[in-house]
Amino acid sequence: MAGSGKIAVYDAPNQPFVVREYPLRRTRPGEMLVRVRMSTICRSDIHSYEGRRPNPCPGVLGHEIIGTVVELGEGCDRDMRGQPLAAGDRVTWSEYFIPGRSYQSEVLDIPQKSPGVEKYGHMAVTADPHFHGGFGEYCYILPRSWSLKLPADISDEEATPVNCGVATMMSVTEAAGIGMGQTLVVQGLGLLGLYGAAIAKARGARLVIGIDPVAARRKLASEFGVDEAINPAGCDEADLVRAVRDRCGPDGADAVVEVCGVPEVIPAGLRMLRVGGRYAVAGVVNPEAWVRFDAHVLLRGLITLRGVHNYHPRHLAQALDFVTGNRMRFPFRWLVDGKYSLADAGRAMRDAAQHRVLRAAIVP
Ligand SMILES: [Zn+2]
Repeated sequence: MAGSGKIAVYDAPNQPFVVREYPLRRTRPGEMLVRVRMSTICRSDIHSYEGRRPNPCPGVLGHEIIGTVVELGEGCDRDMRGQPLAAGDRVTWSEYFIPGRSYQSEVLDIPQKSPGVEKYGHMAVTADPHFHGGFGEYCYILPRSWSLKLPADISDEEATPVNCGVATMMSVTEAAGIGMGQTLVVQGLGLLGLYGAAIAKARGARLVIGIDPVAARRKLASEFGVDEAINPAGCDEADLVRAVRDRCGPDGADAVVEVCGVPEVIPAGLRMLRVGGRYAVAGVVNPEAWVRFDAHVLLRGLITLRGVHNYHPRHLAQALDFVTGNRMRFPFRWLVDGKYSLADAGRAMRDAAQHRVLRAAIVP
């Protein structure tokens, strides 16, 4: 593989994106080279760009990516399910790759927390092989990533969020124990909340209540399995808790998930639960997310509190199956509602950061 390709690079947080050319190299064993088809901007890309979480610079962002296989390195002829791969196939892959065996991956079965785990869109562009993020024409899928061939009937818009947004919510709804006949409260109806509601319904939830102050989100939520969307603005905490508990008889919600990134909502969420309920925290991805709550509520209510960050490779496979199997039931295609060229990465980032679009997509 000779030649070169373009990457939209930012030199420091909040600095303009500059499109630069970098050389491509031959794939090494365990690697795949793909032509990026689409990369959507996730909330964590925005946090990285704004300098609210450490990300090496000059950086290449983008980890919610799909691509078309250009070249398969030695030992890369099959995806994680054993389906044969060939040049021209569309693929998705895990947002992270691990350095090798570790106690975390082998014994604890939490590979996403392996020491030395690296994430796409989280490395300096100077690091080999330059192309390891979505904001470029190419990306190398590096060894010890998990890849999946995409079915022909799923569109790029439906497939791109699978490897971060959807897989994360597979992990969250599993951690929250959502099953047949259960009631769920989703705090935050952004992209994660909408996928979470839809997955909960597919898992058999009988009632999903969404909470979000943005009217447009509450309206859209009904399309994604939210039975009732509540506006928390101007509502005091006791009233909000009562409103939810009244709808989740006889004793409050089976599960609550926080996907809004606002730690202050956690105390109310805990009080919405029934005895023995489960609470999953998944949105507060930035450090220093302090919150104060009465620990006695946990004790007395036999509450299980879970933190969820990223996902196990099984959630990637489940996420793809979920979107493929439910694309007629839920309008996932609506969620990617802004498309931008590589040269327009700055505008894409601004529109995403200012919530002008639900999911901005770079189409290099
Ligand atoms: Zn993400």
